[in-house]
Amino acid sequence: METGLQNRVAIVAASSQGIGRATAEGFAAEGCGLAICARKREALNAVAEKIRSQYGAEVMAEAFDVADAGAVRDFVNSVVGRFGGVDICVTNAGGPPAKGFLATTIEEWKRAVEVNFMSAVYFAHEVIPHMQKKKWGRIITVTSITTKQPVADLVYSNAVRAAVVGLVKSLANEFGKDGILVNNVGPGFTATDRLKELARSRSASSGKSEEEIFDGWAADTALKRLGEPRELADTIVWLASERASYITGQTVLVDGGLYKGL
Ligand code: NAD
Repeated sequence: METGLQNRVAIVAASSQGIGRATAEGFAAEGCGLAICARKREALNAVAEKIRSQYGAEVMAEAFDVADAGAVRDFVNSVVGRFGGVDICVTNAGGPPAKGFLATTIEEWKRAVEVNFMSAVYFAHEVIPHMQKKKWGRIITVTSITTKQPVADLVYSNAVRAAVVGLVKSLANEFGKDGILVNNVGPGFTATDRLKELARSRSASSGKSEEEIFDGWAADTALKRLGEPRELADTIVWLASERASYITGQTVLVDGGLYKGL
């Protein structure tokens, strides 16, 4: 399948591991120039080096927190300075803590809004004017199945990620005329460090072993297994490609049939 992504410039946020990293590799494999970020410089630089040597891609890597509006602005400016523009922006960040409502704190609510909602606003705000100039752009937010179906004890995610969907739909409507397509991808249970963290938390609160927790998650899907980060990445790369040129304002779940609705 010809994706038409050769020489496009892709930002993939929060990409030193997990779904973000797999997505960065997916764009590198398609011949994109790549800009990646995460908070931990050492891990990020190691990933950048690996991607350069494996795919021969030009990779820019900068360490910062995506909840820092100024850092996002500086990063996007540097990307444009180095590559001459930005075509694709995948917003991503670590997930908020797993809790029931009465265990939540106001500080954590504010942090969840900053990291999991405002970061998408910051990136969109910076990249859209550059995409408008080219009359071509793709913004893809990585959120969660919680945008369609709340998950027990993930009250921060259930609440805050819904705002991202409202943002996605609004941007899709406003900037479709400029050739900018905006979509949301919602992972189900995907085998990453984030999922191990959730399993530990579930195990501590339920008394079940982590293995039982993983087995239960797999059993809840139609496909009876967890997802792989590459399966998320393939969907994101396809959404950014010319092969998905008439799709905007949508949420695509990559969840192995975990979502129970029609
Ligand atoms: P992960 O924890 O394995 O990786 C997160 C990445 O984001 C890492 O590279 C980390 O360094 C970086 N990061 C975290 N906070 C950051 C910040 N504030 N600024 C910059 N970088 C930051 O997570 P994952 O499993 O790859 O998940 C990616 C997203 O998808 C998360 O928001 C997660 O909650 C969501 N999600 C994951 C699953 C799953 O099963 N793995 C399911 C639903 C939703």
